[in-house]
Amino acid sequence: MNTPEAAGEPRPAGEPGPGDGALGDWPPHVLEENGALLLARLRRHFERLRETPVRVPSTPVRVRTLLDGEPPAEPEDFETVLADTFRHVVPHLVQWNHPGFHAYLPNSSSGPGILAETLAAALNPNAMLWHTSPAASALEETVLRWLAGLAGYPPDAEAVLLSGASSATFTALAAARDALPGLDIRERGLAGRADLPVLRVYTSDQAHSSVDKAAIALGAGLANVVRLPTDSSYRLRPGVLDAALRADRAGGMLPLAVVATLGTTAVGALDPVPRLAEVCARHGVWLHVDAAYGGLWRATDTPRDVLPAIDAADSVVVNPHKTLFTPMHASALYCRRRGALAGAFRLVPEILRTDDAGGPTDFMDRSLELGRGFRALKIWWLIRCFGTRGIAARMERLLGLAEELRRRVLAAPGWELTADAVLPVVCLRHLPPGVGRQETDAFNARLLDRVNAIGDVFLSHAVLRDGYTLRVAFGNLHSRAEDVDQVWWRLRGAAAGEF
Ligand code: PLP
Repeated sequence: MNTPEAAGEPRPAGEPGPGDGALGDWPPHVLEENGALLLARLRRHFERLRETPVRVPSTPVRVRTLLDGEPPAEPEDFETVLADTFRHVVPHLVQWNHPGFHAYLPNSSSGPGILAETLAAALNPNAMLWHTSPAASALEETVLRWLAGLAGYPPDAEAVLLSGASSATFTALAAARDALPGLDIRERGLAGRADLPVLRVYTSDQAHSSVDKAAIALGAGLANVVRLPTDSSYRLRPGVLDAALRADRAGGMLPLAVVATLGTTAVGALDPVPRLAEVCARHGVWLHVDAAYGGLWRATDTPRDVLPAIDAADSVVVNPHKTLFTPMHASALYCRRRGALAGAFRLVPEILRTDDAGGPTDFMDRSLELGRGFRALKIWWLIRCFGTRGIAARMERLLGLAEELRRRVLAAPGWELTADAVLPVVCLRHLPPGVGRQETDAFNARLLDRVNAIGDVFLSHAVLRDGYTLRVAFGNLHSRAEDVDQVWWRLRGAAAGEF
């Protein structure tokens, strides 16, 4: 038999031994070889990214046909699997890391984040308890403190990393519900209780749908999400909130929480958090701030003075995976009412009891999640590899690109900005001469389709108070000045009927 032992050589570490057959994992040297193949593909991918389409038009039938099939009974060679992935999967993804991606709120990843995800998967620690992965928990504490520093929230707040802002807002509102005195919903539930008042959640007409989802999941119900009208800059108005709280209290309803937004999804509007906090304090209502998009821009110089402070909020979510070049699933929830998250979620089955009780942090106590991956690593690597100054400089560049596009729109006849904003989301539209509002909306919707069909930039839209608007968001680590030229050229060309 042709084995290292038969040849009188030592077996390389990690190689399967006699009798192991092929039932183990790839031996470490194969992992290294295959990893090198992947990294080589990634190098080519990133080197050519600018020249590849950000989005290829395709149909569900076509994509499914490419990817449908039966699972192979016999092992396949990794090179083949990798080649198939880059042939059939990658081209049919939308390239969120593409410099021409300006849709929604972009979240681009970065070298440190990409490699950290690989290491986290390789080590695969479960950060549910301190006991099950002390350094993963300790690192989570550290990065949460660092992010709190960047966002301007108390560093000693109770905090946890979650998969996203939707999950964080649900978690915060669960803590708010648990903090309502005398209801004991955690223990007794909601069903069949005549003693429970109607629970209401207050937010703006611009707030993200995750607020509605949290109200659904927490039993408050969609009908009890009070979406208040915003001001001319799409901000929640403290006076309007105050009046709504008063009226509902007088009607026997119980405010569960107010959700303010720092950086709304459509236009990046900034609710006046300190003044809203005063209203909430007067009414004894929990204030949660969805700063998923807006919270971390405080790391930069430019908007620091105009970004409302968030430190008076009871809870806050910020998303490194939106603004900090971190791969998906990196959201940080903070709660200055220490113990409130654990009050809502701590539940320790016997199998997870440890002698550490009351000592170090057990992050499973702070949300619905039990098994938890090593999210802290990618944020730690990113902040260490870029430095806070480097991160700020990258974010400043994005702000500058948005400012440049705004300047061009303002200077171009037949174009207008549809919202004023500090954050790098540019809302704009073309005003074809001599047509009414409905035709203008339809024209801009067609314009979006035409621009996106070309494939070198990818934009999205929103519907605002006075109609349909195009959105160009800058959030991509790879975007540069030439990307402003490109998107502006495409928009103007499409409006002029050139494409
Ligand atoms: N809040 C705001 C303001 C958002 O724009 C979004 C998503 O775009 C969310 C919350 C939800 O974020 P996630 O995808 O992390 O759940």
